[in-house]
Amino acid sequence: MLSTEELLRTIRGSISIGEPMSEHTSLKIGGSADFFIDPLDRDDFCEALRFFSRHNLPCTIIGRGSNMLVHDDGIRGAVIRTPRALGKLTVKKESVVVEAGVPLPLLAEKTFAASLGGIELLQGIPGTTGGALMMNAGAWGQELFDVVSWVEVLRDGTLMTLQREEIRFGYRYGGLDDSVIISAGLKLKKLSAASVRERLVVLQESRKKRMESQPLSQPNAGSIFRNPDPVGHPEAMSAGKMIDLCGLKGTRRGDAVISDVHANFIVNAGSARAADMIELISVARNAVQSTFGVCLDLEIKLLGFENALC
Ligand SMILES: Cc1cc2nc3c(=O)[nH]c(=O)nc-3n(C[C@H](O)[C@H](O)[C@H](O)COP(=O)(O)OP(=O)(O)OC[C@H]3O[C@@H](n4cnc5c(N)ncnc54)[C@H](O)[C@@H]3O)c2cc1C
Repeated sequence: MLSTEELLRTIRGSISIGEPMSEHTSLKIGGSADFFIDPLDRDDFCEALRFFSRHNLPCTIIGRGSNMLVHDDGIRGAVIRTPRALGKLTVKKESVVVEAGVPLPLLAEKTFAASLGGIELLQGIPGTTGGALMMNAGAWGQELFDVVSWVEVLRDGTLMTLQREEIRFGYRYGGLDDSVIISAGLKLKKLSAASVRERLVVLQESRKKRMESQPLSQPNAGSIFRNPDPVGHPEAMSAGKMIDLCGLKGTRRGDAVISDVHANFIVNAGSARAADMIELISVARNAVQSTFGVCLDLEIKLLGFENALC
């Protein structure tokens, strides 16, 4: 039995009971978490994980909640967030050590400001470094794992460092499913002044394209489906293109809408529920399957769902 007194004695950061997850996800959807923990620092974070594990309660880690759909009934057990506890970033020559809660835009901006290249085009991805490692986030031809040397994880209560060669990452997949990510070591490339200028132009173009091609004024979780893996299939159509060709832009269930701007985005146009999102996900997936014979995999993570769609 978990005692609230023991919880308060163990964790130094803040603890909320019955915290609405809609306040912690970019989609602004999701019921309550039984316990919502915002640890103070790295030790407090690891202690919180060990505490809930000792009490056999499930723990869910969240960064900025920008790649997830949380069930309308919420999440059982504890949700532990990383941004405050794991926020250190050190840049020394071409080597970077970054904790999991550091926002990816900040990491990408700081390293580029130090004339380091490799992840400058990831500035528009609104998550944390931990969330980005979990799914090997990428944009405009760059992926976070392009520059990863090692990842420090907590597994079964034990801290360990995995070298790059030990991690089976892939397209939008970090290969770290059973791990809690604590920090990572990155190796970047020093850019000449001419390369910095050239990359700056590419960066500005990518920002402009993102503003034009994504429904950024409405709550969303980025791409709902993964694009078919480009490795070996460079000609494959994107998920958004296929959904668009099925005529589904603007399709609505409750307040969830397949965006008119980008068909692989489902936006929350008011008070959408997770159930509405799931209905639209099925509509898009079934249409693409019957029209193109392609089964779309989810890119977003479903939290609090017992029978997750694949
Ligand atoms: C407008 C918009 C644009 C986007 N554009 C892109 C894009 O161009 N490319 C792209 O790849 N993605 C994109 N995304 C998706 C998203 O921003 C990225 O996937 C991001 O890396 C997720 O980070 P997060 O901190 O928000 O993760 P969260 O949503 O908080 O978590 C995602 C998953 O990772 C797990 N997790 C998070 N942190 C840890 C940790 N430390 N240890 C273990 N598990 C953890 C969570 O449990 C969950 O399963 C976009 C999203 C939005 C809203």
